[in-house]
Amino acid sequence: MSSARRSPLLSFTRSELRSAVESITFNPNPSPLPNDPDAPRKRWYHYLPLCGTLFMILGPQPSWLYVLVDFHLRTLNKPHLTVIHIAVSYTLTFMAFSSLIVCLARDPGPPNALSRLEGATSEGEDVDMREALMPNNDFSSPSKWCRKCWAPKPERTHHCSLCGRCVLKMDHHCPWIGAKCIGHRTYPAFLHFLVSVSLLSAYVSGVCGHALWYSFNHPFVVNEVTPIHELVLMFYGAVFALIVGSFACYHIYLISTNQTTLENISPFLLLRHLPPLPSTGHSLSDPPLEPELAFSQRRIVKDAHANVFLYNIGFRKNWAQAFGYTTKSQLLFRLWCGGASPGDGKIFPRNPRAEVMLSRLARELVELDDDR
Ligand SMILES: [Zn+2]
Ligand SMILES: [Zn+2]
Repeated sequence: MSSARRSPLLSFTRSELRSAVESITFNPNPSPLPNDPDAPRKRWYHYLPLCGTLFMILGPQPSWLYVLVDFHLRTLNKPHLTVIHIAVSYTLTFMAFSSLIVCLARDPGPPNALSRLEGATSEGEDVDMREALMPNNDFSSPSKWCRKCWAPKPERTHHCSLCGRCVLKMDHHCPWIGAKCIGHRTYPAFLHFLVSVSLLSAYVSGVCGHALWYSFNHPFVVNEVTPIHELVLMFYGAVFALIVGSFACYHIYLISTNQTTLENISPFLLLRHLPPLPSTGHSLSDPPLEPELAFSQRRIVKDAHANVFLYNIGFRKNWAQAFGYTTKSQLLFRLWCGGASPGDGKIFPRNPRAEVMLSRLARELVELDDDR
């Protein structure tokens, strides 16, 4: 930081500032109460969908074990096949529960001020108070400042009205995993959970489909109850694999193009990223607000949204941003439970092509406004 910008009366050493900011903003045991006083309080019934999720995974276990023991062990008399099916299905179940626990237990991404101070300059170097508390951000913009939490809002951070707080790189609010948001620190675990459940469902469905086919062809060697378990499990697994697998494929697409669910389903979020509009000759705010736009302007924003991937920096880099690892132990952790995305979740490189397209969109919006 240049000494010319530093006020002598408002100058602090890094350690002084760190302790001051820690005492103000960092709470290692954050209160479960939301920052937003208008947010709904969490009630017991908000956990019912989570109970449903657990029941849908654990409910079919007795039937599954019955099929394995009665069909594979007694009828086929193949203990090695039974062991393989038990090992594969319970490894996938264990992985699914591990990532579910990560999603439930971890904070999805608290936007506190510490990470910017850490590593920005060396210990002992003076930091201007204005610079520390008001980093290079225009807090008058609604995308940079949360008026409900009354706190800075880093890039891609959104305020969840159900949780009553801001979440770093918020993806969506998920009722099925304890009515929590999925954000920067839980997104890989969330996708890991979806993929594990999809694979588990497909595996159980495939094994039971094969067992059912065998029962049709050898009706006198199987007992009369086992095919019913096999039929139910086959359909149950197939339906789950299709539904949860579709979500998993959607999120694989989102990671490949570096979008969050919110960014993908909200075309008018693009307006926040437009370059400054000309100061005269139009009636739009800067940045423009969705209700101000005419039908034709809304249409070009939606067209642009289908083509502008603001954070898409290439397939490999997009995946590294979500699932990156540097050591083998981190890779094992990723495979076991997904974990958190690397980085502080506050700064994201932008696609240079998207900036050009945003400039064009801004020009077209102003031109259409002039024609009205
Ligand atoms: Zn907020
Ligand atoms: Zn939420």
